[in-house]
Amino acid sequence: MRVFITTDLEGVAGVLLDSQVGGDSREYERARHLLTQEVNAAVEGALAGGATDILVDDGHASGFNFIFEELHPGARYVMGSARPAWLPGLEESFDATFFLGCHAMAGTQGAVRDHTMSTVAWHNMWVNGKLMGEIGLWASIAGQYGVPSVLVSGCEKACREAAELVSGIEAVATKKGMSRYSAVLEPAEKVRGMIRRAAEGALAKAKTIAPCRVESPVEIRVEYNNTGQADQVPIVTGRERIDARTIAYRGPNVVEAFRML
Ligand SMILES: [Zn+2]
Repeated sequence: MRVFITTDLEGVAGVLLDSQVGGDSREYERARHLLTQEVNAAVEGALAGGATDILVDDGHASGFNFIFEELHPGARYVMGSARPAWLPGLEESFDATFFLGCHAMAGTQGAVRDHTMSTVAWHNMWVNGKLMGEIGLWASIAGQYGVPSVLVSGCEKACREAAELVSGIEAVATKKGMSRYSAVLEPAEKVRGMIRRAAEGALAKAKTIAPCRVESPVEIRVEYNNTGQADQVPIVTGRERIDARTIAYRGPNVVEAFRML
């Protein structure tokens, strides 16, 4: 059984503040460790659940967040920037995807570090008219390859967002947001245990979870935070300026539409 795992940092247990999600800070270095340990827990659970090949994508920002020497030896890892595709390495032969360290879409009240793709430039995103965040986009891309999304971890609101998209998805709530930058936190070690068990359980029922399919052709609309950000998008075939702040990106399927961004 082949498992593709993609990761973000904002939904990892204990991560709340700007100093934890990037830059040259001690807090970021500690957050990298927390992320890496959650990845290892998911890999352990997936192996216990029968996975024979596991590919893990380091998806946050630079793509170089995992602490390489701490990574579990039972998987392979995609790291680094300027990748050839979103969810690089995902293909039809995978049997399941996991989403770790997730955050809710931009504009979700009470969600930890809610945003969609960019905290500074993006206000809203719709896929074929449906408001979505990154979880929805990842699930739709996996669905394009016929792969079900079976496990999500992140703040309680991120888990709820995933459950509304994918019925039967296993969810591990790492924290309960009180505001954008505060939460009731579950302890790191407890969360790792929950991820381990949920990963194993998710693979046991992977065949019963339907891939999240988006009808073709696909239009991704991005409403930017200001008109200047939309002004900077060159209008070529497949792109249309909808209004002052909104650009539509179109393609024959969600993977191709996303490439237009
Ligand atoms: Zn991120």
